[in-house]
Amino acid sequence: MNTKIVKIDENNIDQNMINDAGTVIKQGGLVAFPTETVYGLGANALDKIAVEKIFKAKGRPQDNPLIVHVASLNIEHLVKEIPDIAKEIMNKYWPGPITLIFNKSDLIPSITSAGLDTVGIRMPSNIIAKKLIEASGTPIAAPSANISGRPSPTEVESCIEDLFGKIDYILGGNKSKVGVESTIVDCTCTPLCILRPGVITVEMLREIDPNIYIDKSIMSKPKDDFKPKAPGMKYRHYAPKSPVKIISGDLEKTVAKINEIVQTNMGNKKIGIIATDETKSKYPYGTVVSLGNRNKLEDVASNLFEVLRGFDSIDVDLILSEAFEEKGIGVAIMNRLKKSAGFDIIKV
Ligand code: AMP
Ligand code: MG
Repeated sequence: MNTKIVKIDENNIDQNMINDAGTVIKQGGLVAFPTETVYGLGANALDKIAVEKIFKAKGRPQDNPLIVHVASLNIEHLVKEIPDIAKEIMNKYWPGPITLIFNKSDLIPSITSAGLDTVGIRMPSNIIAKKLIEASGTPIAAPSANISGRPSPTEVESCIEDLFGKIDYILGGNKSKVGVESTIVDCTCTPLCILRPGVITVEMLREIDPNIYIDKSIMSKPKDDFKPKAPGMKYRHYAPKSPVKIISGDLEKTVAKINEIVQTNMGNKKIGIIATDETKSKYPYGTVVSLGNRNKLEDVASNLFEVLRGFDSIDVDLILSEAFEEKGIGVAIMNRLKKSAGFDIIKV
């Protein structure tokens, strides 16, 4: 397939290009586009043949539902009801990096929600995403614009790497500001339940629902008989080609443990190290990449996926990563890191 690539200046948007991409969506095609979380791969959420193409292009399992992206707070036609508490979240955080789960209306085809009676809806704040949804005149179903299982793309080059030749159109913008996917909150239950952590944290959401909790299965390895509330939870995710191992605990001991593993394997393995600005000079051997400053977890989140992807082009046999405290945005960072490591963690 011929893939058209168009780069747009977010500060000086060419409406003709947006309209072009909007027409592709209207006609049942696939468009990759920037959002503030990660790049998305979009199709008309109400057109089941178009949505089916997303699953094919990504190699995505059919039981993993898609998030429906909208450009307005007016979503009554897409859902059965909007609980008052969900309205509060929408008013406070939309547009922004948070997806809400509702009971779906019949307008949402079963393939979009992967056969569930519920649908995840989000209003992105990225200006290109907003204009694309408006130009296409329909809600856009969009998972992350990567081949299933790989780290999500936060730069247009990563979309091109994964999807060139498989989709109709790639709209390029800036690097995604947030860098990890949206927080997902199930609004069909009381209290509310977080199905995926993101930069809108549980602490922030407790101001709206003091009893909101994070689903237990998010931070630990799912058991074999695990029946996830969010089907995506059960799949290995965010994984670079080489295995990832997390070293977790006191930072000084972490550095010592990583250096010990590197030195023990030096003769036969090339090792990559995911470090931070505070520690990167403490690793004399191995290929060291920093995620950024530990006091700026927003930066760490925003760099995470591109650092994981970067190791695929360097060719290492094993990647060792430092850990982060599971508090605030650290919860989202550790959720992605643990999944990329298949929950392979050494505690020090
Ligand atoms: P992605 O767009 O690749 O970040 O994946 C979307 C994520 O949203 C998946 O992990 C899904 O399991 C989750 N999701 C989407 N819709 C629903 C829903 N109706 N119920 C539960 N989880 C959902
Ligand atoms: Mg994804």
